[in-house]
Amino acid sequence: MQPQSNYPLRKLNTFGMEVSARYFAHAGSIGEIRELILDPRFNSLDQIILGGGSNMLLSRDINGLVLKNDIRGIRKIREDDQYAWIQAGAGEPWHPLVRHTIGLGLSGLENLSLIPGNTGAAPMQNIGAYGVELKDVFVELEALDRSDGSLVRFGAGDCAFGYRDSIFKGSLKDRYIIVTVTLRLSKIPEFHIEYGAITQELETMGISALTTDAVSQAVMRIRSSKLPDPARIGNAGSFFKNPLCPVSRMEELREQYPEMPVYPAGEGKAKLAAGWLIEKAGWKGYREGDAGVHPQQALVLVNYGHALGSEILGLANRIQASVEKQFGITLEREVNVY
Ligand code: FAD
Ligand code: NAP
Repeated sequence: MQPQSNYPLRKLNTFGMEVSARYFAHAGSIGEIRELILDPRFNSLDQIILGGGSNMLLSRDINGLVLKNDIRGIRKIREDDQYAWIQAGAGEPWHPLVRHTIGLGLSGLENLSLIPGNTGAAPMQNIGAYGVELKDVFVELEALDRSDGSLVRFGAGDCAFGYRDSIFKGSLKDRYIIVTVTLRLSKIPEFHIEYGAITQELETMGISALTTDAVSQAVMRIRSSKLPDPARIGNAGSFFKNPLCPVSRMEELREQYPEMPVYPAGEGKAKLAAGWLIEKAGWKGYREGDAGVHPQQALVLVNYGHALGSEILGLANRIQASVEKQFGITLEREVNVY
């Protein structure tokens, strides 16, 4: 648990940024995390909590403590006829947790199969895919308050979950370290297969009797065929969120671009596809040195080898400016930048 100095982070972030941490430590328990964050050597320095490093862009060396949250453990803490309550340590890798719960005969996480990263980061942006979000199954989390090391519980109503958003990215940013997450999963499956290509994929797979496992397998197959694998090409998934705009603005844009995809977002808002806007603005497949826009997924910025964080950020800024200029739509970053 003794922190190491000048620790290379390249292998610990999926963008593959070649930066280092002044101090780096793994912590496998609440006690170890508490000890580190309150240690006078580190408590006045920047402290970054690291999960799987799949939703961050490290744009500089970190002149502080990078703490890898490795709290493990998955347990069923309660059940009734319909549901089981599963608590997982923040350091549990997300996709194996999904597969584990499916193995227990539980449903609720199948659409979130193959999302990289660890369980502790899932509430940070209320991870979502194929029409399902973490908040749909979330019960509560436990987190350490960085200011005094106290353990605090947050129920669903405390987390201000939104579209790829939560209070931990907003007003409580950098305040808490999530240590466990509790989910309520169903013994009676409720399928969500109307989104994207899931139905079609299930047909291709020849599935006639729908199961939770089959939906998970379909999602895994779609994702593996479409998304760039960070093990082969550095990326952090969608760099920007899909923008929400007033329906009136969406209708104006639709007059100009009738083929533009739009989705209802409630409260007089429409959701636009950021990937489509970026592609239409001419960026898909663009490359400058080792920083680029993925040729098949315009929403994903990539590191072809040795791109600097500043180069990825510079590219992201130019994309934002050009989308703003062409469509009057502001793209917001989804990836956490340090
Ligand atoms: P990290 O990148 O390590 O951390 C992300 C942020 O959370 C950082 O600010 C970090 O400090 C903070 N953090 C991490 N752990 C904790 C903790 N325990 N307590 C407090 N703060 C913490 N996301 C989706 O929502 N849906 C998708 O479908 C999806 N697909 C992806 C596909 C690819 C190929 C990639 C590379 C990424 C994808 N992502 C997706 C983004 C990412 O995988 C998720 O956001 C994931 O939850 C990040 O987990 P992580 O452990 O890697 O977080
Ligand atoms: P896709 O199915 O090609 O769809 C493109 C975009 O349209 C998505 O961003 C999705 O929004 C939206 N969309 C599609 N069908 C929709 C519907 N029925 N209702 C509302 N919105 C709809 O997307 P993809 O790139 O292959 O990704 C598939 C899923 O995985 C998506 O949910 C996506 O968010 C998720 N994913 C996320 C990341 C990340 O890093 N955050 C990376 C890869 C994939 P939403 O994004 O809001 O779902």
